[in-house]
Amino acid sequence: MYPAVVVRTRLAPSPTGALHLGNARTFLLTWLWARAQGAELVFRMEDLDGPRTKPGAAEEALADLRWLGLDWDGEVLWQSRRAAAHAEALAALRRKGLVYPCACTRKEILAARSAPNEGDGRARYPGTCRGRGAEVLAGGRPPAWRFRAPPGRRLRFRDGLRGPEEGVPADVEGDFVVAKKTGEAAYQLAVVVDDAFQGVDCVIRGDDLVPSTFLQLLLYEALELPVPRFVHLPLVRGPDGRRLAKRHGDTRLRRYREAGVPPERVLGLLAHWSGLGPREPVSARELLARGFAWERVPRADRTFTAADDAWLLAG
Ligand code: GLU
Repeated sequence: MYPAVVVRTRLAPSPTGALHLGNARTFLLTWLWARAQGAELVFRMEDLDGPRTKPGAAEEALADLRWLGLDWDGEVLWQSRRAAAHAEALAALRRKGLVYPCACTRKEILAARSAPNEGDGRARYPGTCRGRGAEVLAGGRPPAWRFRAPPGRRLRFRDGLRGPEEGVPADVEGDFVVAKKTGEAAYQLAVVVDDAFQGVDCVIRGDDLVPSTFLQLLLYEALELPVPRFVHLPLVRGPDGRRLAKRHGDTRLRRYREAGVPPERVLGLLAHWSGLGPREPVSARELLARGFAWERVPRADRTFTAADDAWLLAG
């Protein structure tokens, strides 16, 4: 007998602010895919990001998702309680000589890099502390830890929605931070360690994280963890073409919830953006009953407009 194949994906919000329509769309599609497949859907609260995490935002995110009618399997895993596992992974990377301590400040990095990184706005680390490990450790300032991204090494993966992807991890931001000066794991390390711990074999998230996927592939390899499949979804943008955010007005789920907008209306807009039906009120269960396939989800980004906002509030 072959062992049963478990397919498991996850919802993994960061409580750095309230969930907005863009986040909600990613979570709705993840939920629909999981439920339509009979896959398991676990939940992880990515509450690591020190000062950026807002008090109460985690509880609010849970309440928002329940209001939409989305559910998940098992208990919430709080990433902030995984410090021991993250430290163990960092120790493994240290033993293998794949990371080095870095005491540079943000200002020093910006001043030292030769040319600004066009396009994606990420500062590429110029490698100042590479090869200075003992000196940095003796220096007294608590260091961050950076992973040595092999120059020129190109990686490939097949995205479930976008098809074949390839990129050079070292070109994303150079040697990247896996642990911060505070001792906390950085996103790239925490997400890999925790996805593996939760047995996630399909990662579904916004396509702004495609560059991060290349960094994470290096960590899966270094830590000898099974690599999941990836599905990166197009983003919801504002009328100015930028990723949906506060500057586009208040698109927090909480605002609509408190204004008395029925969740079915919000779901109707999200479903319409996702090629799953007309812009009309619908419940999560009804959407599921219609069936779900990635083929129906448009590959292009969607734009949130004032007319969408007015339509939501008219309900
Ligand atoms: N917590 C991240 C976010 O809310 C998602 C990380 C991931 O899916 O890998 O943007």
